[in-house]
Amino acid sequence: MDTIVLLGSTGSIGKQTLEVCKAHNIAVRALCANNNVELLEQQAREFMPEYAVIADDSLFGDLKQRLLDTSVKVLAGEKGLCEVAALPGCKIVNAIVGMAGLVPTLSAIKAGNDVALANKETLVAGGNLVIDAAQRYKVSLIPIDSEHSAIFQCLQGAGENRFSKIILTASGGPFFGKTRAELAAVTKEQALAHPNWDMGNKITIDSATLMNKGLEHIEAVWLFGAKPEEIEIVVQRQSVIHSAVEFLDGAIIAQLGSADMRLPIQYALTYPERLECPAKKFSLAEIGELTFAKPDEETFVCLAAAKKAIARGGNVPCALNCANEASVRLFLEDKIRFLDIGETVSEAIENIKFIEKPTLYDLLDTQKAAEEYVMKRFGYSK
Ligand code: NDP
Repeated sequence: MDTIVLLGSTGSIGKQTLEVCKAHNIAVRALCANNNVELLEQQAREFMPEYAVIADDSLFGDLKQRLLDTSVKVLAGEKGLCEVAALPGCKIVNAIVGMAGLVPTLSAIKAGNDVALANKETLVAGGNLVIDAAQRYKVSLIPIDSEHSAIFQCLQGAGENRFSKIILTASGGPFFGKTRAELAAVTKEQALAHPNWDMGNKITIDSATLMNKGLEHIEAVWLFGAKPEEIEIVVQRQSVIHSAVEFLDGAIIAQLGSADMRLPIQYALTYPERLECPAKKFSLAEIGELTFAKPDEETFVCLAAAKKAIARGGNVPCALNCANEASVRLFLEDKIRFLDIGETVSEAIENIKFIEKPTLYDLLDTQKAAEEYVMKRFGYSK
């Protein structure tokens, strides 16, 4: 099995990736976090990688001091992330949250490393650059996101047959069925209480606004070369069907499993092999019923905004993603209300300068413009 470099090792996906590594003795060459030095130190002592990277470079001295008695080399900043992402012959697991994952992903691809990608914001913001580079450097992008892993699994064995439709399932989040009036006063605690999945804070809020499904819609366009209109979003409340594909003859192939990210993470690490997995197995008879519904895009405007963004193309998905990241940050800091997120993102994509074929520098400028737009809208400086 490939040796892995794990970006975002201290997060929800990162920790579950390490459980899978432990279960199957997968070697870890580098571990990386943003600022959680304490957990990164613990992980480094347990897995003894060659490198530990702290993205916040003001914490370099702290981490170095903590690991002084070990053989682990300490690096810092985006430069450090890019350096380990380019280590030869490794599979890079990108479990960073947010667009901060884009540059390290590009670095991995340019070094010829396959990437197991949880970090959906990378594809949303820079899908054109990432897919172009992956094709040029002949590397594989293996999805970790459960829906995209499901689609990827459904396509195994399809041969030359292209899907006619991708059916992207959604849990509907904690506020399924609520009206805008009911959403006006929801609290951060309510938004963080996802019914089926235990995840990091940012993606949990994205699930509550349905922006997560919007980001996944864009992610599917890039990963599977789908046209936006070939993707249908269906609410599957029990989170048992993780997604499906339809073929020309009308046959629908779906992937089912428990709501446990260790399964898609493990498949991305061991693909094409399937091994015993720590995730719980379940009986369909015990589940009893599976329900399906259409998402409500009038209430959950983030989903409509994401569809608009990918239809327009260029740097608009990047503007959407970055306005969302900034808005979610403010919501988590109790500075804006729940409905402000969707309203702000919908407005931001109309106001950021359009660039048809953005370079990396254009995307970084778009990120800055979107963040400034959001902060200004609520009267905050950066
Ligand atoms: P978490 O917030 O739990 O973890 C994020 C990780 O990224 C942490 O290790 C964090 O370090 C690190 N990080 C944050 N900012 C930076 C930065 N600027 N540079 C480098 N590292 C950084 O997120 P999740 O694990 O929930 O999600 C990770 C990604 O996976 C997201 O894109 C999410 O959408 C996607 N995903 C997550 C799922 C889940 O079940 N959690 C399911 C499907 C997709 P630190 O701890 O030091 O802050």
